[in-house]
Amino acid sequence: MKSATARRLKRFVLRQLDLGEYLKHPGDGRRWPQIPAGLLVWAQLVGFVLRETSFHALEALVRSRARRQLALSRGFGEDTLAYFTERLDLEPTRAALARLVRAAKRRKGFGGWIGLAVDGTSAGKSVRESCPLCRPLYNAEHKLIGHQHSLSLVSLVGGGLSLPVDVEPYGPLDSEMAASQRALGRVVKQLGRRFADYVVADGYYAGAPFLRQLTAWGLPALVRLKHNLPELAAAAQQRFAAQPAHEEIERGTDRIEIWDASDFDPWEGLDWTTVRVLRYRQHKRDGQVIEAYWLTNLKWQRVSSARLYDMAKSRWEVENQGFNDAKNRYGMAHIAHHQSQSIVARWLLLLLALTVERLYRLRYLHRGRRPPCTAIAFVRQLRLSLGSALSLDTG
Ligand SMILES: [Zn+2]
Repeated sequence: MKSATARRLKRFVLRQLDLGEYLKHPGDGRRWPQIPAGLLVWAQLVGFVLRETSFHALEALVRSRARRQLALSRGFGEDTLAYFTERLDLEPTRAALARLVRAAKRRKGFGGWIGLAVDGTSAGKSVRESCPLCRPLYNAEHKLIGHQHSLSLVSLVGGGLSLPVDVEPYGPLDSEMAASQRALGRVVKQLGRRFADYVVADGYYAGAPFLRQLTAWGLPALVRLKHNLPELAAAAQQRFAAQPAHEEIERGTDRIEIWDASDFDPWEGLDWTTVRVLRYRQHKRDGQVIEAYWLTNLKWQRVSSARLYDMAKSRWEVENQGFNDAKNRYGMAHIAHHQSQSIVARWLLLLLALTVERLYRLRYLHRGRRPPCTAIAFVRQLRLSLGSALSLDTG
């Protein structure tokens, strides 16, 4: 296998992923562009893959001798990136992300059932309020300690390849629920109603209006059941406590006891005829037991208890392969330029970089029996390919 280089990655982006048209027209809002938009987008994508997240570091990179190895024909300054991202129309990048996941599905890039996981998080703190997306941040004593940015993320999960699809910010007068509904609505529109088999989310989403919206989109829901639904939670606890496990399965070295019943009453405002509740007790080898309850309108005839357990666990992918990767590896929490449009543009470009990297590493390079290249081995190869040309001033 040939080692990874930025040029090979770019060839993959143009030929296999067919993103040439997107790179030509990524939504440039500048009136008198000096540097081609595609070059600025590619520089940011390869920057994210290399985990260089500040504009200062990107400028150093494109002005170093490594520039040619990065498949960039000219250098530029950090002001250019600030000016460009402030004016970038976000729709072409969102459309490119949707196109990539549609193509991955066509190429049978996923196995099994595909879910859409939705969740909110915070990324990017600042001391002062500097843009309309800044939300006040309070400590336990309700004292203002700074500001932060918040976002909802929709990820494709459960199919063996976790890919982020869309991101939506929510400012101080907005909410995670509203932002998540906007993001999911866009994803359903972009991918079509039949693309995903279910939506999976934590207990915060167990409200009738959200679940009714999913019904309207034709998407079954699988949501964690917690004490924000006290009657249903109590009814399920009471009933299952009196019964031995209905089924026992194994996942890795874990033994899982499952309870599953489809005839609980819906609460007021919910348009389901009945509610199915799943309880599991996951016994780890070290003696630790994880217990959780989930509610769903997926029918038992279509989805077995064991499969429902796997689908519930797929929610963790939005945390692990979504937020954790985006923040800890790709610098999602870093604010390159504190302006609201630029912040969201950078988040979307980060998702696109992450998707491109995963499709390249886990689907394109990983053929035959060879184990897939890990994310860290991949970035190391890329950095080595820049060789002595790389003399980074990361500030
Ligand atoms: Zn802000």
